Amino acid sequence: MKTKLIHPVFEIISQCADEMQVDAYVIGGWVRDLILHRPCKDIDIVAIGSGIDLAQKVAKRLGNKYHVTVYKNFGTAQIAYDDYDVEFVGARKESYRQESRKPIVENGTLEDDQNRRDFTINALAISLNKTTYGKLLDPFDGYRDMEDGIIRTPLNPDVTYSDDPLRMMRAIRFATQLNYVIEQDSLASIARNKERIQIISKERITDELNKIILSPTPSIGFKLLFDTGLLHYIFPQMELLHGVQTVSGKSHKDNFYHTLEVLDNICKTTDDLWLRWSAILHDIAKPATKRFEPEHGWTFHGHEDRGARMVPKLFAELKLPLNEKMKYVQKLVLLHLRPIVLAKSEVTDSAIRRLLFEAGDDIDDLMKLCEADITSKNEYKVQKYLNNFELVRRKLKEVEEKDNIRNWQPPITGEDIMKTFNIPAGREVGIIKNSIREAILDGIIPNEYEKAFQFMIEKAKEFGLTKYNE
Ligand code: ATP
Repeated sequence: MKTKLIHPVFEIISQCADEMQVDAYVIGGWVRDLILHRPCKDIDIVAIGSGIDLAQKVAKRLGNKYHVTVYKNFGTAQIAYDDYDVEFVGARKESYRQESRKPIVENGTLEDDQNRRDFTINALAISLNKTTYGKLLDPFDGYRDMEDGIIRTPLNPDVTYSDDPLRMMRAIRFATQLNYVIEQDSLASIARNKERIQIISKERITDELNKIILSPTPSIGFKLLFDTGLLHYIFPQMELLHGVQTVSGKSHKDNFYHTLEVLDNICKTTDDLWLRWSAILHDIAKPATKRFEPEHGWTFHGHEDRGARMVPKLFAELKLPLNEKMKYVQKLVLLHLRPIVLAKSEVTDSAIRRLLFEAGDDIDDLMKLCEADITSKNEYKVQKYLNNFELVRRKLKEVEEKDNIRNWQPPITGEDIMKTFNIPAGREVGIIKNSIREAILDGIIPNEYEKAFQFMIEKAKEFGLTKYNE
């Protein structure tokens, strides 16, 4: 380990700790990521004594450029060292009460501090004092668990999870990020303690959920959330997607596992959290719109529209941002069937123009979502659908080059209409404006001011309106 402590800040911490005669260690996530060869910008230092005093001495030694921020109430101090966030704390011992995840904290030994860590892989420490510099302290065999790919709690999992139920989410998050297995007892304990998740704030839960979603294969995490029963508490609408119903020998597909396939598929083409969320939510209204029609079998009519309308409430419940990210997800959910319809039928320019107009700059993301939505097991069908989408993509490009419709605004505004006929804002203005837009999108008139103006004059006659001044 010694050779791996190459960051210059460790040398300085080492000198300062020796001069103060306190033991200091780098601990937790940084050590884990060092062993796993993952980049890590958060360095946690634990001192057997005052973390704040050590931080202040280190900051002084580093010179004026680096500033120490002290959080007296928490007994911690932080130095922003270039890109790194170095955090200092005194070793602590924690004990928990039933109703809160906030422990009673006392000063402790290194062992006490390692005992309070959530997983064996997060409990490793490396000594920074000169005589033992680089020595790995791994009381729970975390190193071996990393070799074996196992998530395990250092203490009895029932105690670990019940004390701080957020750890159940963290266990699943690490298992997903690292593609590890949660050890049997631990997994059973999460299932037993699942209800305790309710004492955790929604923000923290969603923070972990987003990390699961940003992992290479998020389905690992969602399956664990479902199997342990946690999903029921944190995201019940997704749990409802699970299950297959059969009527008259006809079954629909399991929309939970289908959604997970779509999600994993889209992760191969995008790292964007919101496009990934669109995949999660694209069929969210299927349970609410499900019908069995004897002639057609199972149908989910309008699930895209209903799903889009569910998005704001879901975002609010999950404490996701209620801003343009939400609108983006809503748009993709609403439009997710449109390219499929285009791929199936004879593709007309006007249908393509309409989709380009509605999707705007998000058209490429929408196409990615549709391609990810192909989850047939039949290779031939998959290839056929992909080819169809390729055709739609080509058509989109052609029409876009010709008509430039992505961020298009119709040539006549509501203002123009009001001035031309000397009428106030109102229903007629809206109808005339929409009919001009529709006529251009349908290719009835070209996208030109003069033609649109003429069309407007004709349309206005239906309301008995004529040009002012005439
Ligand atoms: P990441 O950096 O990927 O978010 P991390 O767990 O390394 O994950 P932090 O959340 O900053 O990052 O935690 C740092 C260390 O603190 C962990 O490695 C672990 O030892 C400890 N820790 C964090 N949260 C908990 C918790 N809820 N219970 C016990 N120990 C925890």
